[in-house]
Amino acid sequence: MGKKIKIDIKNKIGVTSWKTDAHERAHITIKEDICAKCPHQLCIAGCPTECFKFYDDKMTFQYEDCVECGACDIMCDQGSIEWSNPRGTYGVTYSRG
Ligand code: SF4
Ligand code: SF4
Repeated sequence: MGKKIKIDIKNKIGVTSWKTDAHERAHITIKEDICAKCPHQLCIAGCPTECFKFYDDKMTFQYEDCVECGACDIMCDQGSIEWSNPRGTYGVTYSRG
């Protein structure tokens, strides 16, 4: 059986840089009322940087760590996510790619 390799993406994103926009200009927002009734919460497992967390019966979203992969927008079939590209000069900058 092949050797398992665990990749710690949250740690590896230290090589990436961000310019974080203000909260009122977050490029992704969620609707908590929709998330509260979500049957699967796929966004939690699918976000590589763990921006989605469920605390006290409430979904929380941290846009600051987003690497703009788009996975959550594809996985959320409940209409909760509003996704847009960050304003010019804001968001993630990849140092290797
Ligand atoms: S998949 Fe969509 S509706 Fe479900 S918890 Fe995640 S963001 Fe909310
Ligand atoms: S775009 Fe990617 S990194 Fe950003 S919140 Fe969605 S799944 Fe996470």
